[in-house]
Amino acid sequence: MRERYEHFIGGEWVTPAGGDYFEGINPSTGEKLGRYARGNAADVDRAVRAAQSAQVQWAAVDAFKRGQILQKVAQLLRQNRDRLAMLDSLDVGKPLASALNDVEVCARYFEFYAGLADKIHGETIPAPGKHLVYTVREPYGVIGQITAWNAPMGQTGRSAAPAFAAGNTIVIKPAEQTNLSIFEFVAICIEAGMPPGAFNVVTGFGGEAGNALVSHPLVRKINFTGSADTGKLVMAAAAKRIVPVSLELGGKSPFIVFEDADIEAAAKSAAFTLSRNAGQVCSAGTRHLVHRSIADKFVARFASHLKEVTIGPGPDNLEMGPVVSGEQLDRILGYIELGRKEGATLACGGRRLTEGRLAQGFFVEPTIFTNVDNGMRIAREEIFGPVSCVIPFDTEAQALEIANDTDFGLASAVWTRDVSRAHRVAGKLQAGQVYINNYHGVGVEAPFGGFKQSGIGREKGVEAMHYYTQVKTVILPLEG
Ligand code: NAD
Repeated sequence: MRERYEHFIGGEWVTPAGGDYFEGINPSTGEKLGRYARGNAADVDRAVRAAQSAQVQWAAVDAFKRGQILQKVAQLLRQNRDRLAMLDSLDVGKPLASALNDVEVCARYFEFYAGLADKIHGETIPAPGKHLVYTVREPYGVIGQITAWNAPMGQTGRSAAPAFAAGNTIVIKPAEQTNLSIFEFVAICIEAGMPPGAFNVVTGFGGEAGNALVSHPLVRKINFTGSADTGKLVMAAAAKRIVPVSLELGGKSPFIVFEDADIEAAAKSAAFTLSRNAGQVCSAGTRHLVHRSIADKFVARFASHLKEVTIGPGPDNLEMGPVVSGEQLDRILGYIELGRKEGATLACGGRRLTEGRLAQGFFVEPTIFTNVDNGMRIAREEIFGPVSCVIPFDTEAQALEIANDTDFGLASAVWTRDVSRAHRVAGKLQAGQVYINNYHGVGVEAPFGGFKQSGIGREKGVEAMHYYTQVKTVILPLEG
């Protein structure tokens, strides 16, 4: 690790135009962790110009060769996985095993889209009269990528791999809380054979570097992962230039447990998905809608599993680490206080953890609220921490009404042994992914993204390629 990180532009370290730096914090200990260049519009301009000239070069590489280079990226990511995972574990606070999984998922994105690089096909269109009409799918050019802090490797790879496969280049502004692994990631892409300016990093804050990136006239597409509130700002900035956006935003996902479900399996899954990454997962199930007849039993098993979750610093590799920052800790504790004031009942958790080695870190107990009404703010707003709202229901229609009564629509789950009901409910849930008798988004192959205020566009799978290419139609009148 370096003591101080500059921007990484065109394959070189570049000192910030404004000369300013900011501190990173290790969330497990509260100690300082690196200093980073504070990017401004001049830094962004330099990075975008580097990306623009590299794009011409990158797009001219034969598609199969681009695929081979992306395969090499996957190979190098795996070779460096221990180091990359440790950087994310220190930076985000996530348990080492979880950070290792993020690196593996990132490598899988590169493999998957490597295979698609030479399969980006157009169509021939049977138009009226004598015409040859065909389409080609072309890259956008420079993509401005802005990420959140909860899964730096996975999130970056998810967008970067399809963008590169299609011949785009990228300027990324990582979340200001987590910058460590991105520099190694970019260096790996260059080592694998990408032009040095194909992937550039400008670190800094959203209102400065982030805003400059989405507003830059040479950025042709914006890929944003973050909160719905910031997503609206990004979309408004993009609207000024009519630039397309992919928005991967937040959620308040329903986890519906019917009376005929395997209650133990549901409770175990609920506890795992609530505590994973300390609840900082956009698709986490956080509104547990439970049939009234089994609600007490479900909550007892759910709480019992949560109490068994082992908690400690990320690198200790227990089951749950801290939340990412003091600010995020205050936000979560603020919502827990709000839940109490709104009249919900604390069934378990609810405290900051400060015992022993946890004293200086940002640790919060996994928390369940019962007696929650879907109109309460704790049930409507994304908390982005390990906090569940349990809401009872009496009928299938009522479960669906509560599930869909939200501004969000990212993920959802239905637990039942009735196959017809499972599919009937899946068909009516307003969410980008529906899990039946599990809570897992499977691999890199399955499209992911939000309905409603959870976002625009889809990541993952073949589907994502549509969001990194634009269609050109060529029309030729045929003589004779
Ligand atoms: P955030 O919206 O505060 O910040 C996200 C990014 O936007 C950061 O890099 C930030 O610097 C940048 N930013 C802030 N203001 C900006 C501006 N005006 N212009 C341009 N960029 C700006 O979100 P966060 O707190 O970092 O992350 C948590 C949120 O991300 C949650 O809502 C979570 O659900 C969401 N998320 C979504 C997904 C998904 O795939 N749908 C994945 C992970 C996280």
